[in-house]
Amino acid sequence: MHITRITSHVLQYDLPEKLGYSQQYYSRRSAHLVRIDTDEGITGWGECFGPGNIAIANKGIVEGVIQPLVLGEDPLDRDVIWHKCYNLMRDHGQKGMPLQALSGIDIALWDIAGKVAGLPIHKLIGGSHRSDVSAYGYGMMLRPEQPRELASRFRDEANSLKEMGFTAIKMKVGIGSKNDISLVEAVRDAVGDDLALMVDANHCYTTSEAFHVGHALEDLDIYWFEEPVAPEDLRGYRELREGLKVNIAGGEAEYSRWGWLNLLESRGLDIAQPEVCALGGITEYLRVLALCHAHFTPVVNHVWGSAIALAANLQLLASIPPLPGGLHPWQPMLEFDTTDNRFIDDLLKTPLGIKEQVKENGGRVTIPTEPGLGIEPDPDFIEKYEIS
Ligand code: CA
Repeated sequence: MHITRITSHVLQYDLPEKLGYSQQYYSRRSAHLVRIDTDEGITGWGECFGPGNIAIANKGIVEGVIQPLVLGEDPLDRDVIWHKCYNLMRDHGQKGMPLQALSGIDIALWDIAGKVAGLPIHKLIGGSHRSDVSAYGYGMMLRPEQPRELASRFRDEANSLKEMGFTAIKMKVGIGSKNDISLVEAVRDAVGDDLALMVDANHCYTTSEAFHVGHALEDLDIYWFEEPVAPEDLRGYRELREGLKVNIAGGEAEYSRWGWLNLLESRGLDIAQPEVCALGGITEYLRVLALCHAHFTPVVNHVWGSAIALAANLQLLASIPPLPGGLHPWQPMLEFDTTDNRFIDDLLKTPLGIKEQVKENGGRVTIPTEPGLGIEPDPDFIEKYEIS
């Protein structure tokens, strides 16, 4: 079997309302899907992290840089392909967009491997440590509103996430440390104490601001404080982890085993959040997972994008071994985007049905057992939303 074609599909639509995080507001949602065709008619799907113009630039790397390196290769040789591509791109970028582009291709190769074997990806990795996983609802995003309006909307959204069946939820902050504390107080007040609440700063604070907010988060029983400072600020992460009781989470902007090795050795994370569609795909994710566990750092995957990214993450969440083990081991969670996302709801011929499962199964989602990623994108949907 050999690879005959690699195609990127960049999809986009106008959101009904602007969404934002601490770095920007945006009015369009995009997704970057990768399709690999083979001479035997088996097709694999993957996804690259990166919105908008980043996705369009990554399409150039997928089709123009990586495709010529792998045409004619056996798609089952995914580790060989990974190293061939990485070694030839290394001089031009060991992080960021080249790795995002490679991630989508690698995920599609795993999808092909699963289809060839007739097995779900978690079986190729070594089996499922759990048959279902708890999902946490990610919502409560910023909008260009006054702090009081934001707090009122966040209260409503938090309550609706609770009603949807989520037992853990995550909110954004990033409107200034004093207002951010008030925002978290409003949400905690709205949902009560029996729900796990996480706070995501998208690296908007200085270390001293992060300490100010972090101490308030301790009092509000926040489960984790995500990306408090810039991803490059490894010392800041370490100081915060040493000085705060709240769990420090991060890593979505880190790439490859070498980047993760530095991050983990700096001892700044209580919870690692690797992004499989960015750090180098499933092949590299498994090495990063091993490194996290070698440092006894628990993993909760970062999840962003379409139903393809969700499907890949469900396979990986099944494959995370208990750390360190026990009768009632610490368990990972599935990050689930509850904001307007047609690329989750409508992309697949058979939707994943995450929201329905969360509602019916006490916040939990079953690990799919169909071959590969277990998904089939709808070509008409892709054609309708494709911009590049
Ligand atoms: Ca985040």
